[in-house]
Amino acid sequence: MTTMNTKAQSAIFAFFDELFPNAGCELNYRKDYELVLAVMLSAQTTDKSVNQVTTLLFSHFPSLESLANAPISAIEKDIHSIGLFKHKAANVKAIAQKLLSDFSGIVPSDKEALLTLPGVGNKTANVIRAELFKIPEIAVDTHVERISKRLGFALKKDSVAIVEAKLRKAVPVSRYIKTHHQMIHFGRYFCKAAKPNCKECHLRAYCNEKGRFTGLI
Ligand code: SF4
Repeated sequence: MTTMNTKAQSAIFAFFDELFPNAGCELNYRKDYELVLAVMLSAQTTDKSVNQVTTLLFSHFPSLESLANAPISAIEKDIHSIGLFKHKAANVKAIAQKLLSDFSGIVPSDKEALLTLPGVGNKTANVIRAELFKIPEIAVDTHVERISKRLGFALKKDSVAIVEAKLRKAVPVSRYIKTHHQMIHFGRYFCKAAKPNCKECHLRAYCNEKGRFTGLI
């Protein structure tokens, strides 16, 4: 399937609802800024690894002020097990400082404001807006991109920005947040990159890839 149609969309959303009716954010956080930091830390790293390091980090530095004043070396020590930890440690401190100096310590909901935070790009800002403020957003991570292309929401050659634009057109706004989480869960647990569960998949009729994994092409 190269173009999305209503029948395919209905089947896809129904299967997502059946598999993951309660899909949600798997990053642990208790405060608004903890979510911002966790999402920033999750770049090229699993949520499970992020939860391990943030448990340590947020217990050692339990406030925005303590993070803003923490020695970079101490932050690096807590998060050293995840990729790009030196760069991310600098961002942790810089985000804490920026939130305190420019936003009175409160995470803003405005997209432009979020994008001024160090290490926060389009995807991270969308995740924060959806998770903290329930603003309808679709964030395209590696799972969402792969699933969108396998299921015909987008073409293989499409950039992340184009995938996001196509999803925004194909998915009802009321389903943006839910579909985002369901696609991540589908990609993480069912339609994995190398070994998707095609045998059990109800979406084979709509999939561009099934033959690759069932030996048909
Ligand atoms: S048929 Fe296989 S590759 Fe296609 S969506 Fe289902 S699990 Fe993924």
